[in-house]
Amino acid sequence: MSDSTIQQSTVQSSDISVAPEDKAKGPGKYRVKVNRPKCIGAGSCVAIAPKVFGLDDKQLAFVISEDELDDIKLLAAQSCPTAAIIVEDIETGTQVWPQ
Ligand code: SF4
Repeated sequence: MSDSTIQQSTVQSSDISVAPEDKAKGPGKYRVKVNRPKCIGAGSCVAIAPKVFGLDDKQLAFVISEDELDDIKLLAAQSCPTAAIIVEDIETGTQVWPQ
């Protein structure tokens, strides 16, 4: 993980991490976000989808890229013990997870 990746993600104000603009287009229709205050650093999202999620120096998850299949993104989100990962369908604008 490069320093620039960490910086790009933690700089986003806030509490919600999304993929950097140049990595925000995935092969499918799902987009993920991490609600960082809910993250406890369990790491299951990173284990399932290491191209999509990383842990920063505070052991909080952030979104690296959207470069993964929708099923894997959804599985990673469903594995999160605190439901910190939000999955949206960009075609319909609906939230797929948490339900
Ligand atoms: S699975 Fe959830 S709690 Fe664990 S690192 Fe990922 S977002 Fe954080």
